[in-house]
Amino acid sequence: MHAYSCSQKRDGKRVGFVPTMGDLHHGHLSLFDLARKHADILVVSVFVNPTQFGPREDFDQYPRDLERDRSMCEERRCDALFLPEIREIYPNGLETDIQADPVLASRLCGLSRPGHFDGVTTVVYRLFKAVAPDVAFFGKKDFQQALIVQKMVLDNNLGIEIKMGNIIREADGLARSSRNRYLDTAQRAQAIALFQALELAQKCVKEGESQASRILEKVSAFLSTFPLIRIDYAQITDLQTLTPLPEIKEQALLALAAFVGQTRLIDNTVFEFRGEKSPRGTRCERKWHW
Ligand code: AMP
Repeated sequence: MHAYSCSQKRDGKRVGFVPTMGDLHHGHLSLFDLARKHADILVVSVFVNPTQFGPREDFDQYPRDLERDRSMCEERRCDALFLPEIREIYPNGLETDIQADPVLASRLCGLSRPGHFDGVTTVVYRLFKAVAPDVAFFGKKDFQQALIVQKMVLDNNLGIEIKMGNIIREADGLARSSRNRYLDTAQRAQAIALFQALELAQKCVKEGESQASRILEKVSAFLSTFPLIRIDYAQITDLQTLTPLPEIKEQALLALAAFVGQTRLIDNTVFEFRGEKSPRGTRCERKWHW
């Protein structure tokens, strides 16, 4: 893998990389399309990373369909599909030696998934060493993950550009995820409530509400009407530090995690005040560029 990337770079090509855990869907494919715009060579990896799963999580049952993934990569004309074995990524056992930023990792999903982000930073670091990309692509669906990877790249001076792709959704709004496969018909029908809750929050903000607690109360009250849904967390945070915000003044993230039956799903939305009047009537000067 490394030799391939290096030879491409010697030919003056810009190498783009999309790391995945496979079971490819339109969320992944949209990252391929984004990569095509920003790189000459598209490398995709499929690796179900054991160290980012907790002991009671779904590592064993995580959907794996390599032949389907392979043909999707061929159809999308990926230049290289990187399929490392567990022993190649973890020759010394399932250690996590690249620590995620402790502050970012203590927020949101970090609370209910201890060690998860150390697993993510370790695997991404090792994949980056093998692939040596110029630019790598991550979905906003896993917003916290993308921020943590970005920080890991800065802290380790890897010099890799990180770009984020938009959340890709089903027609009814449910964010695409390999874990949606676990949902039965009744759960699938209720799962759209996550997206509807985000929409409800966006509506509240557009109508002038800026107090996070009031928005979150509405979100919780709405979700509590769905018997198959149990909220793990719903928080409004700063977009860069993930610190909870009592009040929305400029941009903010609303991040949501909820169990639908036994399946834990995440979703999020960003409140934007770019060029619009903020709830307080002041114009927002700060802009966020990904
Ligand atoms: P995964 O295979 O779930 O580890 O995801 C691989 C990459 O695809 C990560 O950067 C995810 O954030 C991204 N991704 C997964 N689902 C979506 C989605 N619905 N929209 C956009 N990106 C996604």
